Amino acid sequence: MSRSKPPASNVDKLRRFVFEQEDIRGSIVRLDAVWQRLRESDDYPDSVSALLGEALAATALLGRNLKFDGRMTLQVQGGQHVRLLVLQCDNHLRLRGLARFGDDLPDAFTELVDGGALCITVESGKARERYQSIVPLSEIDLAQCLEHYYKQSVQLPTVFLLAADEDRAAGLMLQVMPERVSGSGAWQRLTASLANMDVMRMSQLDDETLLSVVFPEDDIRLFEPDPVEFHCDCSVERIENMLRMLGAHELVDLVTDQNIVEVRCEFCNQPYSVTSERIYALAAELSGGQGKFVH
Ligand SMILES: [Zn+2]
Repeated sequence: MSRSKPPASNVDKLRRFVFEQEDIRGSIVRLDAVWQRLRESDDYPDSVSALLGEALAATALLGRNLKFDGRMTLQVQGGQHVRLLVLQCDNHLRLRGLARFGDDLPDAFTELVDGGALCITVESGKARERYQSIVPLSEIDLAQCLEHYYKQSVQLPTVFLLAADEDRAAGLMLQVMPERVSGSGAWQRLTASLANMDVMRMSQLDDETLLSVVFPEDDIRLFEPDPVEFHCDCSVERIENMLRMLGAHELVDLVTDQNIVEVRCEFCNQPYSVTSERIYALAAELSGGQGKFVH
């Protein structure tokens, strides 16, 4: 394997690999431009930013398992400090996400998400069938919460390393393949190799070098990298659905002297202009079409 400087092609890519002799697979993800795009949408304090970046890397790693026409949502909601954290990934590895947070934030993960619940939802197929799992936020970090999730939901031993700084969100995942016959001890040996790994620092290496440094004894097959992108699928319809969730009274309060109300998508900041007439029509619809809010 040749050693080279981290090429530009390393950015915003996910790379899968398998241990040829072990029926154990893994993925490495590095997100630079996608991560910057998420960071732009708000002025995130350090602790929230670190969690959002780790969740972004995790969502890409989890999203790679999506089948045709699927979408995955990782969501933390109801916490006192992190009120909402949403990351979404579709089967083309297109991601979006945001966080909403309170004041006086603690640094530790357990305190930051205290009172919240982690929910993983997979929607698949044209009919958008939904599978939802609630994951306890009782471990010391997000990576261990997700390991717990895999243990419970699919009974596949899985390890995550997740990290984020101002420039990059990075992650590595190892997982036993479903068909594997256990008992060789390889899983313990491979995961022990990850014990003290600084995933952010290692993400500066190219994939071949990284894997040969961490697993020098193993024969590893790398697959072609998958590009990862920022993408928001907001639309007039989705924005109107968001407006409906405000309720009729709050909706009408949005109307000002101008005939146009500007609403921005919370994920990508795209502005949408909604006319006062449309706002009144939505409010009327919500109040049972009685025409109460018709201007
Ligand atoms: Zn949007």
